[in-house]
Amino acid sequence: MSYDYEKVEMPGDGQKIEVVDEDNDELDVPETPIIPIVHGDGIGTDVGPAAQTVLEAAANATGRDIAWMRVFAGESAREKYDENLPDDTVTAIDEHRVAIKGPLTTPVGAGFRSLNVALRQTLDFYSNVRPTYYLDGVPSPMKAPEEMDMITFRENTEDVYAGIEWEAGTEEVKKVRNFVEEEMGFGETMHDGPIGIGIKPITEFGSKRLVRKAIDYAIEHDRDKVTLVGKGNIMKFTEGQFTEWGMEVAQEEYDDEEVFAAPDSLWEERDDIDVPEDAVMVEERLADAMLQWIQLRTDEFSVLAMPNLNGDYLSDAAGAQIGGLGIAPGANFGDARVLAEPVHGSAPKHAGQDKANPTAMILSGRLMFDYMGWDDAADLVRDAVEETISSGTVTYDLERQLADAEKLSTTEYTAAIVEHIEKLA
Ligand code: NAD
Repeated sequence: MSYDYEKVEMPGDGQKIEVVDEDNDELDVPETPIIPIVHGDGIGTDVGPAAQTVLEAAANATGRDIAWMRVFAGESAREKYDENLPDDTVTAIDEHRVAIKGPLTTPVGAGFRSLNVALRQTLDFYSNVRPTYYLDGVPSPMKAPEEMDMITFRENTEDVYAGIEWEAGTEEVKKVRNFVEEEMGFGETMHDGPIGIGIKPITEFGSKRLVRKAIDYAIEHDRDKVTLVGKGNIMKFTEGQFTEWGMEVAQEEYDDEEVFAAPDSLWEERDDIDVPEDAVMVEERLADAMLQWIQLRTDEFSVLAMPNLNGDYLSDAAGAQIGGLGIAPGANFGDARVLAEPVHGSAPKHAGQDKANPTAMILSGRLMFDYMGWDDAADLVRDAVEETISSGTVTYDLERQLADAEKLSTTEYTAAIVEHIEKLA
């Protein structure tokens, strides 16, 4: 091992996952891979160990094992290293390629960058992926929640999240205003008085690699459609450009039989289009309209690809349709690397009480398994979670929405899932 870890206990056995081909995301996964895990802050102390237990059970049930490498970020790192994101952790995730983390608290106040954003940017996890599908038995506000089976690819490194912004009252913001008004000729556009300004960078490179990931996913997972979601009618040179570049990827980088780029009009009825059999259709939709379409025509959407801010809003809205934060999984992908993490945060008020719902982190682990090619273990995790919930044994957040459910602690719920894994295997 090239890097000398300062305060990490290396697992006794286990091998490193190696990269066969970075461009094609191809990994060589041993029978007992070393997988770094960050339990996380707040309820991370409950859901982190729970996810570890369930994932290990699914690996064992399919004839494999996991050599966990516990690493630290956030509060636990401050205690151990006196810093938020130690090099040990970044290097472990970097060199082992596949890792999972629980939620991290972003302390409110000046000088704290979000650790999650820092990790995603440092290791170039450029696409945030969130599958949104209905699990039998989960309470939902929708009439037909089972129609939802979507996966969102959210660009993770640019857009207004790039952090290029200036606070009202500063010298910098005055300079930027002056530049925009005087040199760029937007003199009459902004109101007088204090102003905050941010920049929304969207690059061809960032847009195309994200859309490519979404299309490749659709092809590999037999999905029939990729919808590019932007607000290009208003933000022509950023979001409009995103969808245009995305369409170029569809048109220029794949065979017509494999990927069909739908004609350019955003408004056109799609029903009459003749799509080659088995081809993935790539289409564009406006972001605001999509927030209603996912509710009104849920089953028409499959894979969605979009810039950072749209992705943030849309995936939360979609998540609410199928049961909310406690069960929403996610993962960050780069080239031949994945960092799985639940969508929810550290919910500090519920921390350490053995009551939080670990489903989101467990299902994030399922995404990680899927990426490793452990499809049978991934299916087992999903099926066992579904069996547990549909038999009415759930954590407090779901129990209070269900008529006849039994409320379990995090530990009891975890044990119930493991039991189902053993039964189903
Ligand atoms: P949150 O997701 O932590 O909690 C919001 C509410 O959702 C909770 O009060 C709880 O009622 C419910 N909830 C969330 N997860 C649950 C679970 N597993 N089981 C049961 N109920 C659950 O959002 P927040 O309160 O806005 O953020 C708290 C902290 O988490 C902040 O510091 C924020 O920056 C951080 N955060 C981290 C991540 C991440 O690590 N990726 C994501 C979002 C927020």
